[in-house]
Amino acid sequence: MDVVTIGESMVVFTPTSNGLMRYATHFTKKIGGAESNVAVGLARLGHRAGWISRVGNDEFGKAILAFLKGEGVDISKAKIDEEAPTGIYFKEMRRQNDIRVYYYRKGSAASLLSPADLDEEYIASAKYLHITGITPALSASCREAILAAIKIARDNGVKIVFDPNLRLKLWKEEIARETLLHIASQVDIVLPGMVEATFLFGNHPPEKLGQLFLEHGASLVVLKLGEKGAHYFTGKEDKWVPGFPVEQVIDPVGAGDGFAAGFISGLLDGLSIYHAVERANAVGALVTMVYGDVDGLPERDEIEKLIAKNNEDVI
Ligand code: ATP
Repeated sequence: MDVVTIGESMVVFTPTSNGLMRYATHFTKKIGGAESNVAVGLARLGHRAGWISRVGNDEFGKAILAFLKGEGVDISKAKIDEEAPTGIYFKEMRRQNDIRVYYYRKGSAASLLSPADLDEEYIASAKYLHITGITPALSASCREAILAAIKIARDNGVKIVFDPNLRLKLWKEEIARETLLHIASQVDIVLPGMVEATFLFGNHPPEKLGQLFLEHGASLVVLKLGEKGAHYFTGKEDKWVPGFPVEQVIDPVGAGDGFAAGFISGLLDGLSIYHAVERANAVGALVTMVYGDVDGLPERDEIEKLIAKNNEDVI
């Protein structure tokens, strides 16, 4: 595997009409989950991505496995739970810029994930382990699983990429801050958004926030700045990489996952950090132009064309 990721995927229902969901009568059904979104993004760019998780032995679990398998993600380490159900959530589009989510994931199969679900050899064979701040928020055993995966990766020289992905609906602020800071101190690469960085370190300009993550233990930090792009920090250099222009944002959810997929893809291809962040920005921008978390994730030729065109326009 190039990349192994660990986390919960769910079936997502979105009303076909905007407004209060209580009035909605028709819904679309898709598959969502930050970690599997990243795995799909990587597979679409031609990399080998594996996903560790649990699903229920139900129609939704089968839908998730079939979807990920169809996208070329390795699901051989995903387990089917005979008792607990697959989690689901609803995405309410109140207005264009007001999207809310309602989870039905308490006690889900994936929330029962534990260190026993980790295959040490599988993780050790990967070039990167990708984790997010969502999985440790799901339950105590999920938290243990993430910490155990970090240990396996560190013991075996697997680089760890961490997206803090703050979800305050899932856990209490103090526990979230303490856990996310602890994980951030154990990993190589951190990909925070401004919201997460500020939550963890307080109100500071991007330059200071990047520095604080480095002092905390990471060797590379890429701070996501929405339409402005991203700013990376290595300790030796820090640079802002401008975002790609988007005429109209249709659905911003999943941009951060696309960003992670694009960035890891760039590193796997041996690009410089600047060009890996550029690829990440391009994937993130493309995701915002389409409804759905994974629907806008590009294939390799699309991303290369977009970057080449953008660079020509700049020249
Ligand atoms: P998410 O809501 O998916 O968790 P995030 O907070 O992690 O997102 P954002 O900064 O919102 O991260 O978006 C990630 C990346 O996607 C940005 O760094 C940028 O590259 C790209 N992106 C997001 N929004 C836009 C936009 N409006 N125009 C261009 N690029 C964008």
